[in-house]
Amino acid sequence: MAKQDLILLAMDPSPSLELLVKALRASNFDLVLAHDRGGLDKLTQNSIPALAVIGDSFAGQDGFSIAAGMLERFPTMPIVLYSEGNSPDLAMKVLKTGITGYIHPPLTMEEIVEEIRRALKRARTLGDWVRREVKRTTASLEQKARISESERVKLEAIISNIQDGVLVLDEQHHILIANQTIYEMFSLDGTPIVGKYVKDIIPNADLSALIDRARDGILKYHEINFDDGRVFNAQYTPLARIGSAVTMQDISYLKEIDRLKNEFVHTVSHDLRSPLTAILGYMELIERVGSLNDSQRDFLNRLQASVQHMTSLVNELLDVGRLEAGFDTRREVVDISNLFEYSLTVFDSQIRKKNLRLTVDHGDTPKSLRANPIRIRQMIDNLIGNAIKYTPPGGDIRVSISSQENQVILQVSDSGPGIPPDEQNRVFEKFYRASNRPGNVEGSGLGLAIVKSIVESHHGRVWVESKVGVGSTFIVLLPVHE
Ligand code: ADP
Repeated sequence: MAKQDLILLAMDPSPSLELLVKALRASNFDLVLAHDRGGLDKLTQNSIPALAVIGDSFAGQDGFSIAAGMLERFPTMPIVLYSEGNSPDLAMKVLKTGITGYIHPPLTMEEIVEEIRRALKRARTLGDWVRREVKRTTASLEQKARISESERVKLEAIISNIQDGVLVLDEQHHILIANQTIYEMFSLDGTPIVGKYVKDIIPNADLSALIDRARDGILKYHEINFDDGRVFNAQYTPLARIGSAVTMQDISYLKEIDRLKNEFVHTVSHDLRSPLTAILGYMELIERVGSLNDSQRDFLNRLQASVQHMTSLVNELLDVGRLEAGFDTRREVVDISNLFEYSLTVFDSQIRKKNLRLTVDHGDTPKSLRANPIRIRQMIDNLIGNAIKYTPPGGDIRVSISSQENQVILQVSDSGPGIPPDEQNRVFEKFYRASNRPGNVEGSGLGLAIVKSIVESHHGRVWVESKVGVGSTFIVLLPVHE
C-alpha cells in the first residue's frame, strides 16, 4: 500500500475501534494508533497521514477541537469523526469544523471501508485541484515577471541611448540608474556605481549643490562646470516613492556662442564710447561759438538726451561685459542694510512723487557680506528702481533683508503688474523686456541682466516670484561673510 494511505486512528479503546482496525487492515490500509494526546502529536510530527479518524472524545479531550487543531496544521487532510451517537447537532458541528465526514454505530466493515475510501477520494480530488491552481497561478506570475523584465530591458535601452545624462537616485542619494552619458561625463567607465552613494562616486561640487539644495526646494536647475570647459545644464526632478532623477544636457556650444556674442557686444560698446564722448563734447561747444535760435536749441537738447541715453546703454553693456568676464574682483566687508538705506534715500523723491507706500524690514542683526559695495549698491538700485518704475502710483513697495544660516536674503516686492510665468526666467536675459509693461515704461532690458551678473559674481542666486495683476518679488541670496 502506498505511503499516503497511512491512516491515523485517535480513538479510545472500544469494540468499535477494534472493528475499524480489523476492517481497514483487511483492506490493506497502513494504520497507526494514537493512545493519548502526546502520542497523537508525536505521530503527526513524524509523518503526515493520508487520513485521520478521531473519536468525538479522545483521551479525555474534545474530538472536535483536536480535529480543528489538526486542520490548522494540515488544511487539506481528510478527517473522519467517530461518534457513539448520531444527531443533527453533530452533523452541523462536523460541517462547521470542516471535518470531511463522520461515522457512528451500528457499523459494518464494508460501511467503514467505503466511508474511508470516499473521504480519501475527495481529498485527492481537492489536492489535484490545488496543484492545478498553483501551477496556473505560477505560470501567470511567470508571464507577468517576463513582461516586466522585458519592459525593464526596453526602458534601460531607452535610457542608455538618450544623449542627455540620466541619473536616478534613491531617497538616500544612492545611485539606482546611470546611463552611458553619465559614465562618459564623469569618466566612470569600468567603475561599479549602482547602489553607491552618489557623492562618493561623483565628487562634483556643482552636482552636490544641486542635489542638496533641490531637496530643500531652493534649486531646480544648476550648471555643472568641468575644468576642461564643458558645461552641462542639470535639472532635478523628485520622483515619488523612488527618490529623484537628475538629467544633464551638454550646453557647452551654447555657452561658447554666448561668449562670442558677449565679446562682440563688448568690443562694439567699447569702440562706441569714444565717438559718443566726442559728440557730447562738441554739442556742449556749439552754444559757445555762436548764438542759437529756439528751434536749434530744442533740436540740440533732443540730440543731447538721445546721445546720453546711448552712452548710458553703452556703459551698461560694458558693465555686463566686465562682470561676465570676471573682472569684478574687489571685495570688502559690506553692511547690506546700510546700502539699502542709502539707495532708498536717493529714490525717496521718486517714491513720494508716485505716492508709493514703502515698507522696510531689516531686523537687528547686521548683515555683513564680503562683496564689492559699488556693485551691490548697483544691484539694489536696479531692483528698487524697477519696483518704482513698474508699480502704478499709490502702490506698495516692500524691502526686506534677513539672514538664514550662512546667507543673506534680500527681497524687493511690489504691487506692480507682475510678470507672466513663462517670462519670469527670461527677464534676466540681456535686452529681454517682458510683455506686460503698462504704459510706455522706458528701459534697455539690461538692468536685471546686470543684477544677475553681480549676484553670480558674488556666488549668490537671484530669481523672481510673480503673479500677473498682483505683483512681483525679486529674491537674492548671497553667502554671508564669515
Ligand atoms: P528694463 O530696462 O526693461 O526695466 P530690466 O532688465 O530691469 O530692464 O527688466 C527686464 C524686464 O523685466 C522689464 O522690461 C519688465 O518687463 C520686467 N520687470 C522688471 N522688474 C519688474 C517689476 N518690478 N515688475 C514687473 N516687471 C518687471
